[in-house]
Amino acid sequence: MINVAVIGAAGRMGRQVVEAVEGHPGMTLVAALDAGDNLAQAAQAGATVAVDFTVPAVTEANVHELIDLGIHAVVGTTGWDADALARVAEHLTQRPELGVLIAPNFALGAVLAMRFSAAAARYFESVEVIELHHPDKVDAPSGTATHTAQGIARARREAGRAPSPDATTHDPLGARGALVDDVRVHAVRLRGLVAHEEVLLGNPGEQLTIRHDSFDRISFMPGVLEGVSQVARHPGLTVGLEHFLEL
Ligand code: NAD
Repeated sequence: MINVAVIGAAGRMGRQVVEAVEGHPGMTLVAALDAGDNLAQAAQAGATVAVDFTVPAVTEANVHELIDLGIHAVVGTTGWDADALARVAEHLTQRPELGVLIAPNFALGAVLAMRFSAAAARYFESVEVIELHHPDKVDAPSGTATHTAQGIARARREAGRAPSPDATTHDPLGARGALVDDVRVHAVRLRGLVAHEEVLLGNPGEQLTIRHDSFDRISFMPGVLEGVSQVARHPGLTVGLEHFLEL
């Protein structure tokens, strides 16, 4: 039995995680915490793993506190940058038995789409990423899109591929989107959407589109539960659920 605490338990994702943990035969929900609660309650309740789906402004502080409390962490909150990740990795050196998994996307299809995009990117002259989300999302581009673009950029560098061609010299309004590691990323916010991503790959005379759609937050739960099951066996910092899967 794994004793689990959920942080951000009153949020859209947190509520879903609470339900998923309660429905898992190998897990017990021992704490459901939200803003204003003290994380020490998770330790007092006997949690060995905590799941964080909160907000970008607080997630890093939560993870440092969980490390101090001796609790493994599975983190879905987005907004992490390289410096914040490095601080967590450094902190974990003081507690080498603990594992922290930070995954920008827990949907198995999204993880596969990232993997397929990186595999394809070396064979195409042009590649751009479009992420599409509900309009209540506070950060852009999404963590998934950033992670996807970074994976594509790494694959292209390894293959000696030049950045995608682009003759634009005048773009005062930023219509060409963000640049993540030399890969263009576009963010759409539209009522009715949940979480979607398209990777467009272009060559002379052909296009490959890799698209993933999360229609419901339930799509993230198998990945979250996999993370909770495995995090104690993966000490140190892991970024991306793909490292816990046999792909
Ligand atoms: P939400 O706003 O519905 O929920 C956030 C919750 O965190 C709220 O209940 C809020 O009160 C709580 N909170 C704020 N500060 C807190 C604190 N200090 N301690 C404890 N709780 C606190 O947001 P959401 O839609 O559930 O998304 C949460 C995060 O998860 C976002 O960053 C989102 O982008 C991300 N997300 C990740 C994935 C993934 O697969 N990795 C999937 C969907 C969403």
